[in-house]
Amino acid sequence: MNDQERLAAVIQEFMDRPMTMGELTNAVAKILGLAADQANEIAVTELTRAYAMKSKAEADEVRASGFEVLDIWRTTNDELVCELCDHEGKVRGDGWNECPPVHPGCRCSVEHEAA
Ligand SMILES: [Zn+2]
Ligand SMILES: [Zn+2]
Repeated sequence: MNDQERLAAVIQEFMDRPMTMGELTNAVAKILGLAADQANEIAVTELTRAYAMKSKAEADEVRASGFEVLDIWRTTNDELVCELCDHEGKVRGDGWNECPPVHPGCRCSVEHEAA
């Protein structure tokens, strides 16, 4: 496995079983040989990407069975949201198109609602 594959594997592990953000950060730091703060930013970014991809796959499955699904942007409410991420509650096409992460450390997500 190369670093990228090991990183993907540890992200998958985090999503599949209980693991704290600290444990994930340590694992990422070890794989990439980074300091904790850099590893934490990568862990956050890769988790955001993994969750967005998983949620997109789920929505696509629902669409494939003939239902309409809206993609709705969600920001985290526990910190200041930057300009790039300021789409809280907006549907795809209304100011955003690409799924998060839109920058390193991005913690946004996409929620799905029946249309
Ligand atoms: Zn942002
Ligand atoms: Zn964001």
